[in-house]
Amino acid sequence: MTTLYSKPYLKRFLGLTLLLLPQLLRAQPGIATTATSTLLRPAAVFDGQELHSGWVVLVTGNKIVAAGPAAQVSVLAGTRTLELTGQTLLPGLIEGHSHLLLHPYNETSWNDQVNTESLALRVARATAHAQRTLLAGFTTARDLGTEGAGFADVGLKQAIDQGIIPGPRLLVATRALVASGSYGPKLSVDVEVPQGAQEADGPEGVVRATREQIGKGADVVKVYSDYRWGKGEPSRPTFSQEELNLIVQTARAAGRPVVAHASTPEGMRRAVLAGVETIEHGDAGTPEIFKLMKQRGVALCPTVAAGDAVSQYLGWRKGQDPEPERIREKRVSIAAARKAGVTFAMGGDVGVFAHGDNAREMELLVREYGFTPLEVLQEATSGNARIFHLTDRGSISAGLLADLVSVTGDPTKDVAALRQVQLVMKDGAMYKQP
Ligand SMILES: [Zn+2]
Repeated sequence: MTTLYSKPYLKRFLGLTLLLLPQLLRAQPGIATTATSTLLRPAAVFDGQELHSGWVVLVTGNKIVAAGPAAQVSVLAGTRTLELTGQTLLPGLIEGHSHLLLHPYNETSWNDQVNTESLALRVARATAHAQRTLLAGFTTARDLGTEGAGFADVGLKQAIDQGIIPGPRLLVATRALVASGSYGPKLSVDVEVPQGAQEADGPEGVVRATREQIGKGADVVKVYSDYRWGKGEPSRPTFSQEELNLIVQTARAAGRPVVAHASTPEGMRRAVLAGVETIEHGDAGTPEIFKLMKQRGVALCPTVAAGDAVSQYLGWRKGQDPEPERIREKRVSIAAARKAGVTFAMGGDVGVFAHGDNAREMELLVREYGFTPLEVLQEATSGNARIFHLTDRGSISAGLLADLVSVTGDPTKDVAALRQVQLVMKDGAMYKQP
């Protein structure tokens, strides 16, 4: 009897495959290779809470199966070992506020991106942004609105999940909700231009728009509870309390959290009372509002990097000129939020500045806002995972997804180490390897 394997050409084929295996497993940037079992031996492991020297992490398939002191982790013969000398292994970082469909405003203004760039161009860019985000060590991103690119984030997420393009796991918000007349772009009053988010008003209108977004794939509902009604104006509240309550009730019934863009005390107050889970920006938050956020368990995603970038786009020569009022205000409000004990989510509003530069938010929080490197690391891993209800990631422990990143040095002491990404693993597949 002749077995399949005795056929000479098959033998040759199998031999060749084995010979090529090391090449097949060698990761190219952005190309995934899956190993069945890998033991990662870094200098230390940050598990989402604290640093452990001498720990190893065992990955099988797409899961972490063991993490602990090297002597306590037993490994089967034939397990591949990856030495990560001088490196710290972290849970894959979680970006809390991105716009993959935007690119920096100093390249093209927000108005021009929304008005003049085709959907095809924007999606093509977004695929490159997704890859840069992942290779920077961010294996998950909460993408808070397509800003005029419709429901393109849903397809982008599908392309990533299906392995068509490399990118982070996404939580998407689709179009986001704005009150009629409150958003942009604003051209001549005689010209109707597509807006950067979905306009909805009144009980029936906001409920319908919320359901439509969820039906088309929104993981989170984003609402703008305040905005500038006109160019050069300060932000003022937009949706009524009743409208915000209905949006939250409708989303909650469908198992979706609501997040609010809000920077004024009244916009923040209405959103918090309605039951949103995070406030985005919060620039003019007061001690009273932060106390309310603390009471209601609402987290603040401060996006300091966006204000820092926009101020520089507007001409601020950082380090030479005095601080703009906007930055001064931000410093005061963040200090008040910290004093009130508000929980922070880590998110930079990346897209306003370059994708892949996500660590900028963490650097600024440490260097200019008084956070410790350990605090921002906890926020970007276990903290964001908890706030975003991602129970399968954000920490390094047995049973969680094998979303792992290594960096040279110790980022719990020096935030700059986050720029030295050596290894990126998502779902057990290697996207970048030292
Ligand atoms: Zn944003």
